[in-house]
Amino acid sequence: MAEYFKGKIKMISTEIKWGRYENLRPAQIEAIRAQTPIAYLPWGALEWHSYHAPIGLDGIKANGLCKALAQETGGVVLPPIYVGTDTIKPYKGFHHTIDHSAETVTKLCREFLTQLTDEGFKVIVLVTGHYGGGHVEAIQKAAEEFAATHPEIGLWAFPDSEPLEGVFPKNHAARGETSFQLLFKPELVDLSTLPPDRETTLDDDGVWGEDPRRASAEEGQQMLKVFLENAVPKIRRLLQQNKL
Ligand SMILES: [Zn+2]
Repeated sequence: MAEYFKGKIKMISTEIKWGRYENLRPAQIEAIRAQTPIAYLPWGALEWHSYHAPIGLDGIKANGLCKALAQETGGVVLPPIYVGTDTIKPYKGFHHTIDHSAETVTKLCREFLTQLTDEGFKVIVLVTGHYGGGHVEAIQKAAEEFAATHPEIGLWAFPDSEPLEGVFPKNHAARGETSFQLLFKPELVDLSTLPPDRETTLDDDGVWGEDPRRASAEEGQQMLKVFLENAVPKIRRLLQQNKL
């Protein structure tokens, strides 16, 4: 019995601790925070992602990426925020999209950053899966204001395309985003709903980038590998600088 406990405690002490914030009890949050005071905030939108992919793709993607980061570094993962601005609805008129104002996004982002600080996290990593220009600006506005008033907190707010830059292209509902969707929640993709006799386009289908029929879970895995290789060292540095 004693041996069993010894082994178990050893295993727990060397294990990377992470959890989904909404599923954790207070003592569990405190234990994770004491080891790794990182909060991951996945940000998405409710937005048309063509016929073949779910409208929550950006949040599902950001959530999957944040989970993968937390498994590497430890920390808590907040539930994804499905509040986007500068979506494809005002841009190209596609429905099945809830478009919020830039002010709403900035205000909500500011509140999450200050509340996570109040909850004792020292590093906040915000990954936005939706990266319309106005949306990224709205997030950056809150992040810059916050950084100026909270220099003691390590904050990194970025679109998920950033760690992939130069390796995999930015896109919307195309090969890249569909590959991530096929990696994280493949059961929500139905490629047979795309027009059979032609390539997809931005104006007709709301696809920006290569035809999603070239997507695969294997490519999603390769993208995740590059994402982690570039993002994890940066987050570890932020943690070293801001842990105490
Ligand atoms: Zn998207």
